[in-house]
Amino acid sequence: MIPLFCQTNPFLPLGVGPQVGDAAPMSTAPDRLLIKSLTLDEVGERLRALGQPAYRAKQVAQWIYGKRAKSFAEMSDLPAGLRQQLAGEMTFSGLEPIRTLGSKDTTLKYLFRLDDGALIESVLIPASPALYGEASDRRTLCVSTQVGCAYGCKFCASGLDGWSRNLEAGEIVDQVLRVEELSGEKINNIVFMGMGEPLANYANLMKAVTIINAPSGIGLGARHITISTSGLAPQIKQLAEQPLQVRLAISLHGATDEVRQQIMPVNRKYPLAVLLEACEFYTQRKKQWLTFEYILIEGINDRPEDARALARVARKVKAKVNCIPYNLVEGLEWKRPDEARQDAFMAVLEAARIPATIRREKGHDIAAACGQLRRQTMPDSDKIPLQSAGTHGN
Ligand code: SAH
Ligand code: SF4
Repeated sequence: MIPLFCQTNPFLPLGVGPQVGDAAPMSTAPDRLLIKSLTLDEVGERLRALGQPAYRAKQVAQWIYGKRAKSFAEMSDLPAGLRQQLAGEMTFSGLEPIRTLGSKDTTLKYLFRLDDGALIESVLIPASPALYGEASDRRTLCVSTQVGCAYGCKFCASGLDGWSRNLEAGEIVDQVLRVEELSGEKINNIVFMGMGEPLANYANLMKAVTIINAPSGIGLGARHITISTSGLAPQIKQLAEQPLQVRLAISLHGATDEVRQQIMPVNRKYPLAVLLEACEFYTQRKKQWLTFEYILIEGINDRPEDARALARVARKVKAKVNCIPYNLVEGLEWKRPDEARQDAFMAVLEAARIPATIRREKGHDIAAACGQLRRQTMPDSDKIPLQSAGTHGN
């Protein structure tokens, strides 16, 4: 992100929750199927099985994504019996808005409760420079893909209470629909930079992307969709092989194994060389630049020599660099460097002719760095205490 987001608990004791690289864990996702988890083809298959003609799938999609219906009962051009049947098999929503928090610069953060009571957040950024999309990224929505996160990056709030489950595709899609409804704004750029590691929920992520992109769905161009990952190399390659021209952002944050390992446990599983090889594979397959996200953390990765190492890897992979001064997270001790130090870092990249921007945050004033709003709302009994939050070591 909108780096406001993360919530993984860097201090989770080993053996609690899934470990880096674990397969998709047990889920308490909704019992009944969410209609918004289905692509048009899948809706068609279900309707065919019910003896319905082919055109019905488009009718249903038009009700959901065109007219924004909220129940099968509203679908007045469907036979009443079919509406009942569908309502018996599938459920419509999963997201109940429970809090909105707006910042001075009009960044809006939405907290939603899922059917099982879990909380997730989405952030709407009404105007931001064109960091990911094409000409200008107006009305960017940052969406979550998991409840919590298992990857335990040490600077990140998203996961301070561990990982609970993957979001269903319909719960991802519904963040877009609900925020459009609540804000009255059409979203024209989506970044998967909310809570969770998108590529660890690959199948549901790709289904959601398909629905968001489809003309029969939300109809947002693939180039206006950015997936961010902490560096899951095999899934980056998998993404490279599929046809949609979505954009990819890598949360690099360290340009040597030494630095990266210190703050991102995922680097042990996929060291820099493995990650960079997957990145090169992606840029070659997609004929597309990717973006390295690089949070500037005081005394950790903000020295001129760090900038030189970053320039080397960015040149190798053909990546643009997006630097983000670290957003303070309550309970963690990391700091952002002062502006002079930030400028010195940027000057090294500029001298090396690396396309680089620095993002001075919107939404910074919402105490709300994404998981924080969620945390403020959770009962204390669900929180994992931050008692060990003083140590930065591995
Ligand atoms: N799990 C994915 C996507 C969600 S995190 C990933 O890691 O890429 C979205 C971005 O926010 C990541 O680049 C992450 O490193 C960054 N981020 C997390 N905590 C932050 C903080 N306190 N300040 C600034 N950026 C942060
Ligand atoms: Fe936060 Fe992303 Fe790391 Fe998860 S993978 S802890 S969401 S930065």
